[in-house]
Amino acid sequence: MKRILLLMSDTGGGHRAAAEAIRDAMLQRYPNQVELEMIDVFRGYSPFPFNYMPEFYPWLINHSKSSWGLGYKLSNTRKRAKALSSGMYVTMERNLRRMMREHPADAVVCVHSVLTRPSMEALLRLEQRPPFVVVVTDLVSTHMFWYDRRADLTLVPTEPAFDLGMDGGLRADQMRVTGLPVHPHFAESLTDKASARAALGWDADLPAIVLVGGGDGMGPLFKTARAINSKHLRCQLIIIAGRNKSLKARLDESHWNQPTRTYGFVTNMPQLMAAADVLVTKAGPATISEACIAGLPMILYDAIPGQETGNVEYVVQNNAGVFAPSPRAVADSLASWMREGAEGLKRRSDNARRIGRPNAVWDIAEQIWAMAQQAPIPTYRRNPWLELTSGRRIRVTPSREYWW
Ligand code: UDP
Repeated sequence: MKRILLLMSDTGGGHRAAAEAIRDAMLQRYPNQVELEMIDVFRGYSPFPFNYMPEFYPWLINHSKSSWGLGYKLSNTRKRAKALSSGMYVTMERNLRRMMREHPADAVVCVHSVLTRPSMEALLRLEQRPPFVVVVTDLVSTHMFWYDRRADLTLVPTEPAFDLGMDGGLRADQMRVTGLPVHPHFAESLTDKASARAALGWDADLPAIVLVGGGDGMGPLFKTARAINSKHLRCQLIIIAGRNKSLKARLDESHWNQPTRTYGFVTNMPQLMAAADVLVTKAGPATISEACIAGLPMILYDAIPGQETGNVEYVVQNNAGVFAPSPRAVADSLASWMREGAEGLKRRSDNARRIGRPNAVWDIAEQIWAMAQQAPIPTYRRNPWLELTSGRRIRVTPSREYWW
């Protein structure tokens, strides 16, 4: 039985979604041969204030997006990312080392940029450590936090993320381009539009516009829905508020000019995407990857500055959607798509499907499985002397990135 430890945190919905996707794909592919444990590291093994990151993150994005963007930009160089991560490790060291002791594993997998380096540091404090795999869950403009040369394997979703890894000092043979892990259930549950609509009780004929703002209902979702509403389009609106309860309440109190349904946090996203014609969303990596698998054209109304900026270019350059960074721009784009009719939607839908990678999660599961077969790696912490076959002994400096 192989044990895999998945490190994530509920800052946004994407990290948990990626970790669950990997967990369930591995359980399906290697039944009775693998045990997986998922840990929210910020919540479970971090001191104050890091243990409040899952609560603080959506608040920060919703209230102070520009300071987030500035912080992202300023920290996004190799040296600064390394320095900040070292500082973070010092604060979290006791907890992280306890976590590694309490959860021995045959492979450790990290799906969170900020946790990558501190987790690697903690592993290097063990006498021998399991292989460490990083699964990058941002799509394109990936932060330098993700890239640690000491990681045994880094799996990236796109070519631009690979190139940034090279800039971050990784060698090409330390990375693979796999795509972003989307839950196997997603591709398996995609049905045809008519049956998905019938199951959901939606109108069978009206074009269905789905609005979603990530797991936490982030960005100006309410204003965007109202701007669309004011256009009196021949369509039905489906608005997913996610965990944002006040948004759901406001949506439910409003009057709508077209058939409109609101949902809180949904667990049937594949069904909703199968039933939809257009997705209006912020540029979340998981949502975009899912929409591509579903062949769903996108109008992106917002992007978290930094980690989601590149996602916009990715969608737009591949002609799978447009960027409309204001409620009015979304409504105008949607109105023009509706005027254009089915042909335009079909073209964008095909483009989205072309960049979808439904097999990414299986590829990732196989790579992690292969890493878990490896013997534990000595860190030379207690005994820094390494004996070569020639009989010569050399001193190994543990936990140092001597190539930087
Ligand atoms: N999601 C969901 N139910 C909801 C809203 C969102 O399952 O009601 C999922 C969505 O399908 C995607 C994830 O949450 O898998 C959102 O991830 P993304 O990277 O798009 O945005 P984040 O929330 O991480 O900012």
